[in-house]
Amino acid sequence: MPWDIVGHSKAVAGLKNAATTGRVGHAHLFAGPEHIGKARLALLFAKALLCLEQKAGVPCDSCAGCRAVTAGAHNDLYLLTPSGASIGIAQVRAMQASLSLRPVLGQYKVCIVDDADLLTEQAQNAMLKIMEEPPAYGVLLLVVHRLSALLPTIISRSQVWRLHPVETQAAVAYLMQARALTREQAELLAAVSEGRIGIALGIDPQSLLAKREMVADWCRELCTGGLPAALRMATALDKEESLLEWLDLLALWLRDIWHVQIDENAPITNIDMKDRLLTEAAAWKGRTTAALTAVLEARRRLLQNANRRLTLDMMCINMQKGVDYDTGRRSPF
Ligand SMILES: [Zn+2]
Repeated sequence: MPWDIVGHSKAVAGLKNAATTGRVGHAHLFAGPEHIGKARLALLFAKALLCLEQKAGVPCDSCAGCRAVTAGAHNDLYLLTPSGASIGIAQVRAMQASLSLRPVLGQYKVCIVDDADLLTEQAQNAMLKIMEEPPAYGVLLLVVHRLSALLPTIISRSQVWRLHPVETQAAVAYLMQARALTREQAELLAAVSEGRIGIALGIDPQSLLAKREMVADWCRELCTGGLPAALRMATALDKEESLLEWLDLLALWLRDIWHVQIDENAPITNIDMKDRLLTEAAAWKGRTTAALTAVLEARRRLLQNANRRLTLDMMCINMQKGVDYDTGRRSPF
């Protein structure tokens, strides 16, 4: 049975090889954006190390070691997670105490530190001490979103696995199978989640399709409804909780319009709505790229905590006018 994870094939191959050859290294860093499967990868590696019947780096899933890992109750696996907003030195010392006891079942004792970004500086120094003199059987797996949050000395003592969002086609294939979606639905979900499988799994595909329908309707009204339509759209968006998801759908919709304006057969995300996109392409002529820029600019400003309502008003009005935010130029498409 292969490792049950989407993508990250290079890291999986390297980790399997380490588990097979026994050249494991005492510290590994799993680094990359949130929701792409870093902690899952660390846990699978831990399982491969703790499996008593492991073959070619693949855990058997049935020995006492594997069963204990699955149940979250393995004496040789220590999980360190933040308590509140940080991981303090006392927590690292408790982990160290556990690490000082020899393994009970197999030949390794594995500690996974999730959200290692949240280790305080003191805690990082304590972690560094462990890394400097680890017990022969000890393996530390640190899961981190931003490498820059860690001391350079921790990074240099670790094997670093830089992980990225899953490639679109791999994400689509996985989502079709795991969630029984059509290819069109899976492609939309993969595009909105930008290959972060953890996010894609949390989105309800039916509600996503309903939102997209709404986005298409708003864009239609923007073309014909004048200023009141722009303000209606801003008001509606302002009430939405997952605003960034809405803006992503809006950007994908406008990008598709732009693509079919250039070439009817250009690749698009909303493939099941192609007829409608072709109709919209004519209506949006001369303002598509400026509208797209307005959405992306609003997204950027919202992430920097700009005034939400004002940003949405400006976005919708600029989309409608087809005028670039900063340059005042009209859109070439
Ligand atoms: Zn096993």
